[in-house]
Amino acid sequence: MTVQTAVSFEVYPPRSPDKLPGLHDSIRALDSVSPEFISVTFGAGGSSTRDSLDVLCFIKDNTHAKPLAHLTCVGTTREEAEGLITSFVESGITEFLALRGDLPEGETEHRGELHHAVDLVDLMNSGISHSAAIDRIAVAAFPNGHPESASLDEDIETLLTKQSAGATLAITQLFFYVEDYLRFVEKATLAGVTIPILPGLMPITSPTRLARVLELTGEKNPHELDNRLQDTEDSGKRAEIGIAWCADMIRDLVDAGAPGIHLYAFNQHETVLSALEQA
Ligand code: FAD
Repeated sequence: MTVQTAVSFEVYPPRSPDKLPGLHDSIRALDSVSPEFISVTFGAGGSSTRDSLDVLCFIKDNTHAKPLAHLTCVGTTREEAEGLITSFVESGITEFLALRGDLPEGETEHRGELHHAVDLVDLMNSGISHSAAIDRIAVAAFPNGHPESASLDEDIETLLTKQSAGATLAITQLFFYVEDYLRFVEKATLAGVTIPILPGLMPITSPTRLARVLELTGEKNPHELDNRLQDTEDSGKRAEIGIAWCADMIRDLVDAGAPGIHLYAFNQHETVLSALEQA
C-alpha cells in the first residue's frame, strides 16, 4: 500500500456454514494490512445474530483488528435491543455501528419501539447498564442522500442528531465519485458535524455486481464506470477496471484529507487488498 491512511473493512456472515472457512481465510488476509477495525453486518430483525457474533468473535480472537458489530433496531422493542447489546458486550464486543435497518419487503409501517438509528445510539450511549463498557458508537451517513430523505439537508440534520446522541464516527454508504463525498463533508461540517466521516468504498468488478449494489443502495448509476465494465467480456479485465477505479478514489480521498478508508470487502480479500496496493 503506497497511501498512508487508516483502513477498515466490512464483511458479512456467510449464508451457509461451508463458506465459513473461506471467510476466516479472507479475514486473516485482510489483517495483513493492519486494519483498525473489521465490521460485520447484521440481518435486520435479528436474522443473523448468532452468525454475526461468531464472525465478530473470530476477528477478536484471531486478528489485531477491533471487531465492530453492526446492529439494527427496526422492529425491535427497547428490551430486545438492550438484550442484544448486552449479549454482544458480554462476548467482548464493545464497538458498534448503530443502524435502523430496512423494513421487510412489503411492510411500510415501523413496528417496535426504536424507530430510527438515533434511538439505538441513545440506548447504547446512556440507556443501558452496559453503556459504560461500549467503546465506540458509529453510525451511517449518506453522501448522496438516503433514499427516504427529502433532501441532503435532512440527512445532515439526521447525522447531527446522531452525533448529539453520542455517535463518534460516521461511515458512509458507498459512492462512486470523490466529489460527492467532499461536497457532503463540507456541508456537514458547516452544519456542525465534527465527528470523522469515513468514506465507504467497494471495488466493483462486474456489471452484475454494479446492478445489484445499485438496487440495494438506491445510488445513481455511475455511467462512466458502468460503460468501462460493459466494454469487455473478460472477467479479469473487468476486475482490473473496478480495482483501478477504486484505487484512484482511495488516492484522491486520502489526498483530500479523508480520515481513513473503509472498504466493503464482500467477503473477498483479493480485490480490496489490490485496490489498496495500487492506491
Ligand atoms: P436512520 O438514521 O434512522 O435514517 C433513515 C431515514 O430516516 C433517513 O431518511 C433519515 O433522514 C430519517 N430519520 C432519521 N431519524 C429521524 C427522525 N428522528 N425523525 C424523522 N426522520 C428521521 N442494514 C442492515 O440491515 N444491516 C447492516 O449490517 C447494515 N449495514 C450498513 C452499513 C453502512 C455503512 C450503511 C451506510 C448502511 C448499512 N445498512 C445495513 C443499511 C441501513 O440499515 C439502511 O440504509 C437504512 O435504510 C437506514 O439506516 P440508518 O441507520 O441510516 O437509519
